[in-house]
Amino acid sequence: MMNRAQDQAVQIVLDPEIPGGVYLCQVSETVSCGACCGLYNVAGLSRDGLYALLAKRTHRFSEMAGRNLDAVLSFRKWVEESEPQERPFPEFHHCPYIGLIGRDASRPGCLLHPLGNSGIDLRGISDYGGFACRTYFCPTHDCLSADIKILIRKAARDWFEYGLMITEASLVQAFLDVAGHVAACRTAPDPDPADIMRELMDLKCCWPYRSDPASGLIHYFFNDKLYARAPVDYAAIGAEASPYNRIFQELGSGFDSVKALREAEAIVEALLKRTALLRREFSAL
Ligand code: SF4
Repeated sequence: MMNRAQDQAVQIVLDPEIPGGVYLCQVSETVSCGACCGLYNVAGLSRDGLYALLAKRTHRFSEMAGRNLDAVLSFRKWVEESEPQERPFPEFHHCPYIGLIGRDASRPGCLLHPLGNSGIDLRGISDYGGFACRTYFCPTHDCLSADIKILIRKAARDWFEYGLMITEASLVQAFLDVAGHVAACRTAPDPDPADIMRELMDLKCCWPYRSDPASGLIHYFFNDKLYARAPVDYAAIGAEASPYNRIFQELGSGFDSVKALREAEAIVEALLKRTALLRREFSAL
């Protein structure tokens, strides 16, 4: 018998051309990701601030008289001179050509893509080069099951939370693994799996126990681990390592008291009980 998760999953045919079978970068008119282009690597990251920055860029790009090398380079110069260039992760490139795409400029995407430039592919001008822009797929593609990737696509309410979440493969997997040791909290009716994933998105976006609130929301997820998240320092508050340590580390946590640690454990435990329901729905986790 097909369970609810499988029923949802078969509506998206796995794509053999994509590592892991599920395309994650462009999802819908309002949901896409540009995290590998450094989308979130901006100082004072916020949904509204990032949208405003992208909208300004997109407007400027649309007003360019031509699409030749000089025009594109002069656009880049304008971006770099008109926007703060301090980066939470200084060695993680933030591409100046990320803007807003789609019918209503409603999601992030590449301003140099041929679809927005009368079929001309300008991505060779970018720092990564055209080949990397066309062929790179982030670790999430290979790290999470197809069912879970499809669930994250379905659950995302907008591009901002989607790009932050889809690149958190280790956090999602940590939740699923730890939930395997927790008794599921039954409710009647059981929550929609997408709602459980949205709770995890909310936790990631609003986690109040970050050791570095300024950069903690941003994730450097590349395999070179240049900006890997630091271990949680339990000794500093005289505590033993938490049973949820793996989750806390993936959330970039730091605790200033045992009381704060216990509060954080209670929040995570409540979500784990619901995440345990996901494990029943997705047999291949
Ligand atoms: S970080 Fe991953 S999902 Fe996001 S745009 Fe890059 S390859 Fe696609």
